[in-house]
Amino acid sequence: MSTDIDCIVVGAGVVGLAIARALAQSGREVLVVEAAEGIGTGTSARNSEVIHAGIYYETGSLKARLCVQGRDMLYAYCAERGVAHKRLGKLIVATSDEEIPRLADIQRKAHANGVTDLQLLTAYEAQTLEPALSCTAALLSPSTGIVDSHGLMLAYQGDAENAGAQCVFHTPLVCGSIRAQGGFDLQFGGTDAMTMSCRVLINASGLHAPTLAHHIQGLAAASIPSEYLCKGSYFTLQGRAPFTRLIYPTPHHAGLGVHLTLDLGGQAKFGPDTEWITDENYDIDPSRCEGFYEAVRTYWPGMQNDSLSPGYTGIRPKISGPDEPAADFMIAGPSVHGVPGLVNLFGIESPGLTSSLAIAAETLTRLNG
Ligand SMILES: Cc1cc2nc3c(=O)[nH]c(=O)nc-3n(C[C@H](O)[C@H](O)[C@H](O)COP(=O)(O)OP(=O)(O)OC[C@H]3O[C@@H](n4cnc5c(N)ncnc54)[C@H](O)[C@@H]3O)c2cc1C
Repeated sequence: MSTDIDCIVVGAGVVGLAIARALAQSGREVLVVEAAEGIGTGTSARNSEVIHAGIYYETGSLKARLCVQGRDMLYAYCAERGVAHKRLGKLIVATSDEEIPRLADIQRKAHANGVTDLQLLTAYEAQTLEPALSCTAALLSPSTGIVDSHGLMLAYQGDAENAGAQCVFHTPLVCGSIRAQGGFDLQFGGTDAMTMSCRVLINASGLHAPTLAHHIQGLAAASIPSEYLCKGSYFTLQGRAPFTRLIYPTPHHAGLGVHLTLDLGGQAKFGPDTEWITDENYDIDPSRCEGFYEAVRTYWPGMQNDSLSPGYTGIRPKISGPDEPAADFMIAGPSVHGVPGLVNLFGIESPGLTSSLAIAAETLTRLNG
């Protein structure tokens, strides 16, 4: 039985576009279907735009491997395709003597992940680099950077389309079923509701990818993880940024702490914090920055009162709950669910942007494996 199209990628975020690019460049016919009006309106437009080095992730995890691979691929890609980016570097700072041994632990873990360029700095060395900083020691990550995420997505889309892929918008996948002879029958909503069939289906729909997978009739529910949403709020700093590198406190159990990132225009922002939510909404509660001042002054004592204003929020597509250990990326291909031609991407939170090219390569491997 024939199908209408070879491959359908659901979702035109940074991950879906990277996968569409890889599939099209491998010679396959590709259609990207996106519910929104354009590319990259979801999580891919609401993040820190940091090219992570791969420091903190569990050694041996997909996050660790794909971040380190993806980071190198991304720097090379941005340079080749002229996507705006900057290898600014990042300082992880200890603000008490008790925190100093934690920096050595982080350096050891990073080394095990293949991040071998971290440098332990004395307070004097760190303050020479960043005079506004207060710390007892710091770890410099030279390979951390920032990228224009929208420029990156435009480049992926351009490559995919040059290799023959097409993107359609206002076309939400509503449900589907697995054909006995192989392939999928799919039902799309939107203004021009329609049905279409394909041989390969990639679910790169982000926040609600598990819910969408439950709407594919015939797919074992046991292969689909639970879905959780965790909001992060950012507050922007009025005036000039006091630092030229990204500044992160020493992480504790609860997360990475209130850190400072910069965008390509030099604007500084603090966040994201963590707030578990049940409904997707991007509202920002201005009072959430109250705790930020005290936390930030531990490493930047010069921070002025009332210097933060509400910025924006993003939502992490979690597949582990607040009281569970953080889950790894889940790239569920036929070896997980037994359905040829299907890959579901679940829990693609940070470092998904950094890892996007490596996630695409891994998806193609799992599709065929
Ligand atoms: C607060 C925050 C900070 C982050 N910071 C960083 C960072 O600094 N560095 C980094 O590497 N990563 C970071 N990330 C992670 C990164 O942003 C994500 O991993 C990445 O954007 C995920 O891309 P995606 O394409 O999987 O998802 P999305 O960008 O969400 O794209 C999914 C797309 O699918 C579409 N869609 C959904 N359902 C359907 C449907 N049924 N039919 C058709 N289309 C559908 C949506 O409209 C959307 O466009 C951060 C994430 C968050 C939340």
